[in-house]
Amino acid sequence: MKHFKLLYFLKCIALASVLGAQVDLQAQVTDNGLLQVKGNKIVNKEGKPIRFAGPSLFWSNNYWGGEKFYNKNVVSWVKKDWHAGIIRAAMGAEDNGGYFEDPVSNKARVEAVVEAAIANDMYVIIDWHSHHANEHDWEKASTFFAEMAQKYGHHDNVLYEIYNEPLKISWSSKIKPYAESIIKTIRQYDSDNIIIVGTPTWSQDVDQAADDPIDQPNIAYTLHFYAGSHGQSLRDKGTYALSKGVALFVTEWGAVNANGDGEVNYEETKAWIDWMKANDISHCNWSINDKAEGASALYSGTSNKGGWSKLTASGTFVREIIKDYNSETGSHENKKERSTE
Ligand code: MG
Repeated sequence: MKHFKLLYFLKCIALASVLGAQVDLQAQVTDNGLLQVKGNKIVNKEGKPIRFAGPSLFWSNNYWGGEKFYNKNVVSWVKKDWHAGIIRAAMGAEDNGGYFEDPVSNKARVEAVVEAAIANDMYVIIDWHSHHANEHDWEKASTFFAEMAQKYGHHDNVLYEIYNEPLKISWSSKIKPYAESIIKTIRQYDSDNIIIVGTPTWSQDVDQAADDPIDQPNIAYTLHFYAGSHGQSLRDKGTYALSKGVALFVTEWGAVNANGDGEVNYEETKAWIDWMKANDISHCNWSINDKAEGASALYSGTSNKGGWSKLTASGTFVREIIKDYNSETGSHENKKERSTE
């Protein structure tokens, strides 16, 4: 009888350690808490630099094709199979089928992804996916972000991205005033979650933002690259911005050409990943979609429920990058440090 009890006890311990290991592997937000900007780094609740990677969803717009992937199954799958620590909900604003035309459907898609990210212990970017936000009705962006901040601002999981990719326009006279207005709105309801601001020329001119930064805490600036089109000269802009003391976030990047199509550029992508790692920069890859173009991670007609066994060339490469990136994040390093303290 005693032997049975001992065996049962040992089994329970073995099961607990297996479950514990699984919990540790999955833990991201519970370990790292609210992300904050400290100098040119994004840091966790212990003030240690942290970096995450994950995918971006495609535009959320009705009938564009990517909207079917805005669901809990997809979020859970990229957490489980890609080890994604973050996911980006790219809500289309002014274009056909976007938030201006159908706020209810587009907002519901974003909320499904935010709630799935919270359930999966992941960070999530709420992205106003626009090339024209400063030209149009600021009130709509303001209303949307006020609602998101009230609903989700108390969750450590959330980051706001208020202007995906401004065109070739002035940082100081066009983008910055828009950003300051939206930041003011968000801060009425959420005093502390990170707000990421787009930069001129499809979020490449981070140097201009760094020369005239927004005088507020917990602001990061968007740098986007497509490895088939952008290389060292854009990384140099990033390095310059970091040297001026601002934090960067690569909320969108592609392994292909800047138009979202073309073949994977393995060599240039690796140079970018090395640069991001060296500078503790988090990133989201474009994109989880099955449109027939180079940047899509999925082949046309792939299930929108996860469980994907076959990915495109970009999807296959990016999944490996994300798995590796998150396995080396500060969350694991910190855990090691804590366990030896
Ligand atoms: Mg908050």
